[in-house]
Amino acid sequence: MDLKEKIRVIDGFPAEGISFKDITTLLKDADALKDCINQMAERFKDVHVDIVIGPESRGFIFATPLAYLLGTGFVPVRKPGKLPAETISYEYKLEYGTDKLEIHKDAIQPGQKVLIIDDLLATGGTMYAAAKLVEKLGGEVVGLGFLIELNDLNGREKLEGYKVESLIQY
Ligand code: AMP
Repeated sequence: MDLKEKIRVIDGFPAEGISFKDITTLLKDADALKDCINQMAERFKDVHVDIVIGPESRGFIFATPLAYLLGTGFVPVRKPGKLPAETISYEYKLEYGTDKLEIHKDAIQPGQKVLIIDDLLATGGTMYAAAKLVEKLGGEVVGLGFLIELNDLNGREKLEGYKVESLIQY
């Protein structure tokens, strides 16, 4: 199935100059949703995965069904102050200011093989931070998967050294 057809592109949202990739049109389509998760699983079929991680919030949508399909657990990476138990955090730069992501300290065991899934690769800042959190806990990042990749923003360069897979490119 051509999943790109199912993405709605909205220019000028949420700010001028941004071409927003709206995944809700794909998500509400039963066949497209199933095909999307199956395609992600296919990309990582030769990789041993112990746990799947998704960054808040759209990462949750794809990482959890993929974890179910692969027969692994799911671990959330969240914005500060959302996780209730002891956390570690990673701060990263945005165009203006900084942002921070957190993970539960006991979410990953040293040596576990971790696949991280998000909806979209733009600059790669979010995924880089998630990968660093996993590594801080002693996990091994075995793959980074995205539904969408924005080629012009060179996120793939920032993630050099990792196995990066995306199903749709712009
Ligand atoms: P980045 O850290 O720059 O790779 O940005 C990744 C996150 O920002 C993704 O998880 C998306 O949810 C969101 N994002 C960035 N650019 C867009 C876009 N053009 N359309 C939709 N979501 C976007």
